[in-house]
Amino acid sequence: MLHAEVAILGAGAAGLSLAHRLSHPARQGRPVSTVLLDAPPGPLRPPRRTWCYWEAGDGRYDDAVTAEWRRLRVHDPTGRSSEDDIAPLRYKMLRSDDFERHVGHALAHSDDVRRLEAAVETVRGDADGAEILARTDDGRPVTVHARWVFDSRPLARLPAARTTLLQHFRGWFVRTDRPAFDPGTALLMDFRVPQPPQGLAFGYLLPTDRHRALVEYTQFSRAVLPEHAYEEALRRYADDVLCLGGFEVTATETGVIPMTDARFARRASPSVFRIGAAGGATRPSTGYTFSAVQRQTRAVADALRAGRHP
Ligand SMILES: Cc1cc2nc3c(=O)[nH]c(=O)nc-3n(C[C@H](O)[C@H](O)[C@H](O)COP(=O)(O)OP(=O)(O)OC[C@H]3O[C@@H](n4cnc5c(N)ncnc54)[C@H](O)[C@@H]3O)c2cc1C
Repeated sequence: MLHAEVAILGAGAAGLSLAHRLSHPARQGRPVSTVLLDAPPGPLRPPRRTWCYWEAGDGRYDDAVTAEWRRLRVHDPTGRSSEDDIAPLRYKMLRSDDFERHVGHALAHSDDVRRLEAAVETVRGDADGAEILARTDDGRPVTVHARWVFDSRPLARLPAARTTLLQHFRGWFVRTDRPAFDPGTALLMDFRVPQPPQGLAFGYLLPTDRHRALVEYTQFSRAVLPEHAYEEALRRYADDVLCLGGFEVTATETGVIPMTDARFARRASPSVFRIGAAGGATRPSTGYTFSAVQRQTRAVADALRAGRHP
């Protein structure tokens, strides 16, 4: 059995952020021995995704960001637009692959964080922490005991809520024939797209250079659409609203994020805490999930490094 002060379950946005903060040198507080467990490649792993988030000035992942914008534009449904400088904020785009590489490099050089690839099966609290049973890809059991466990595995079921809407979207990474974009300005909340009978819809345009951008169609509503509906909406948005001209789609991304006013139990048992989306980071009141995840994991890491209760 492996022993550590902290076990982190899941190496997505929250798990890697917390591990990264705990991997840093001791000048940032006392060292905290940590085991990071992530599911082996396969169905438990999330697909590649692109995180966008607000940050004032420089941030800890700037070396890995694909792009950042200091000007934003929005369009109301009549087409009227409003554009402004967002100083001191910046809107940043970070691809999950780049984030994983960036954090992976730091973890590989850390004496405090050990990584294991094994799917967690059970977490059982005991008198001095919790025991985690996991299984590697080739079926070997792995047991870890930790004083504190931070679990970012997705919840099997969302907690009961008064309201649960879905933020569901599809994005195209496009390359245009002509220089169609201003890479200094992000277009958010473009309400010039047709509105659904219930809920709302908007387009998004995040240019990374004069020819390349992420073009996204998003709905906030109760149910997802059939795949072809997102494709048609994106096609209309790109052709009729953005008037991109000739372009090719180089990659796509799809997501469904529940937006709920449910209360998430932060603590699953005396030594086991939930972090990330499983800890309520996707609630609308927390703002952008990636930013909420950063606030959450910074608070946890600061407490642990100071020797306080997390
Ligand atoms: C396409 C897409 C785009 C998005 N864009 C944004 C955005 O722009 N801004 C934003 O703030 N949010 C965005 N989101 C929401 C995003 O999901 C969250 O911001 C973020 O990934 C949540 O982090 P997390 O660590 O809670 O979960 P995840 O990042 O999903 O990580 C969960 C981890 O748990 C692991 N895991 C699962 N089961 C097990 C198991 N049994 N054992 C061990 N490990 C396990 C998985 O391998 C994974 O590493 C987007 C989501 C998608 C899908």
